Amino acid sequence: MSVLIAGAGPVGLAAANVLADAGIAVSVLEAEPRLPENLRASTFQPPTLDLLARFGASARLIEMGRVARKVQYRDRAGWIAELDFGVLQADTQHPYRVQCEQYRLNQVLAARLKALRFGAEVTALDQDADGVTVTINGGEKLRGDWLIGADGGRSRVRETLGIPLEGFTWPERFLVASTPFDFAQAIPRLAEVSYFADPQEWFFLLRVRDVWRAMFPARAEETEADILSDASIERRLQRVHAKSGRYEIAHRTLYSVHQRVAQSYRRGRVFLAGDVAHLNNPLGGMGMNGGIHDAFNLAEKLAGVIRGEKPPEELERYERQRRPVALEYVNTITIANKRHLEMRDAEEQRRWRAELSRAMADRTAEREYMLKLSMIASLRKYACA
Ligand SMILES: Cc1cc2nc3c(=O)[nH]c(=O)nc-3n(C[C@H](O)[C@H](O)[C@H](O)COP(=O)(O)OP(=O)(O)OC[C@H]3O[C@@H](n4cnc5c(N)ncnc54)[C@H](O)[C@@H]3O)c2cc1C
Repeated sequence: MSVLIAGAGPVGLAAANVLADAGIAVSVLEAEPRLPENLRASTFQPPTLDLLARFGASARLIEMGRVARKVQYRDRAGWIAELDFGVLQADTQHPYRVQCEQYRLNQVLAARLKALRFGAEVTALDQDADGVTVTINGGEKLRGDWLIGADGGRSRVRETLGIPLEGFTWPERFLVASTPFDFAQAIPRLAEVSYFADPQEWFFLLRVRDVWRAMFPARAEETEADILSDASIERRLQRVHAKSGRYEIAHRTLYSVHQRVAQSYRRGRVFLAGDVAHLNNPLGGMGMNGGIHDAFNLAEKLAGVIRGEKPPEELERYERQRRPVALEYVNTITIANKRHLEMRDAEEQRRWRAELSRAMADRTAEREYMLKLSMIASLRKYACA
C-alpha cells in the first residue's frame, strides 16, 4: 500500500515522515524546483514541539530559533499583561514556544525523506474504489492507494474535488517586516513575542534568531507598492519605536488573510490537511501548528489502517477530530485576538483587560488560559471524537 502527498510544506513533510517511519511507502510531490525559503510562519507551539520531537526536529528548531517562555500584551502606552508558558510544565515536554522560520523545519523534515520529488506539480486527480491516480505536470500519471492534499491555501487537490473553503477574507492585508534592530534594547521588559493593541494600528513583535519580525495590518485602500515601500515600512517601525536613523529592513511580505474552513476534509481516498483545509489570521500562531497537528493525526490513522492494526472506519475520525478544532477553536481564538488588538470600544477593552488580569491572578487560572493559547486544549477536547 502506498500514500501520495501533494505538497512539501510543513504539513506534507510531517505526514510523510510519520508514514515513512511506520514503514509505509510514501511519495511527496512538490511543484517547486526546490524547497521554498520564503518568510511565513515562525511560531512552534508546545504540543507541536512534542510531536516533532520524535524526528529530532524540535531540538533542531531550538538550535536554529529562539525559545519564547512568555507572551505579552501591551498598548502603545506600556504593558498590559504577561503570561508564562512555564505553568504548562506538567502538560507538555516543551513549556515554551519556539520561534524559528518554518522553512527551517521543512529542511529538517525533507532531509529524513527518500521519496521527495521536486518540479512535480499535481495538476489533476482521479479516484476509484482501489486507489487514486494523480497527473503530474499535465502528463505523467502516478498511482497510490491514498492521497493527502497538502498543497496549501490555493490547493489544486481541493479545487479538483470541488470542496468549498467556507468563510471570509479580511479586507485588510497583513504586512510582515523584519529588521535586525534589537527592540529588546529599546522597549523595556519586552518579551520575545508581544502583541500591541491600538485602535489606530495594532502590531506585534516577534523575535526569531537574527531579526525581529513586526506585523501590521494594511488598509484595503493602500496599494501593494505603497505598503511595501521603504517609506511606509519606516513610518510604521518609527511608530513602534522612534529612533534616529533609518531601520534596516531584512525582509518584507504582504499577504491576504482569511478565516476559512473546508466543508469536508475527505472525499473517498483523498484527504485534505493544513492550509488546504483551513486558513486563519496569524494572531496566535495557530495556522501552521494546526496543520502539523492534522498531519500527525491523519498519518497515524492511515499507518494504522494500512498496517491492518485499525479498521478502515478509524479514518472517519480524522475529520471528526480536526475540523471542529479549525472551526470552533482556531477560528474563534484568532478572530478574538484580532478584535482585542483593534477594538475601540472602552467597555470591550475593559472586559479584555479584566480577562487578562484574571488569567494572571493565580497559577490555576494562568494554566487554563495557557492551555488554550498553546493549543493543548484543542487537542485534548477532540481526542476522543
Ligand atoms: C505569504 C504568507 C505568509 C505567511 N505568514 C505567516 C505568518 O507570519 N505567521 C503564521 O502563523 N502563518 C503565516 N502564514 C501561514 C503559514 O505559512 C501556513 O499556515 C503554513 O505554511 C501551512 O503549511 P502547509 O504545508 O499546509 O502549506 P504550504 O506551506 O503552503 O505548503 C504547500 C506546498 O505545496 C506546494 N504545492 C502547491 N500546489 C501544488 C501542486 N499542485 N502540486 C504539488 N505541490 C504543490 C507548494 O509549493 C508548497 O511547497 C503565511 C502564509 C503565506 C502564504
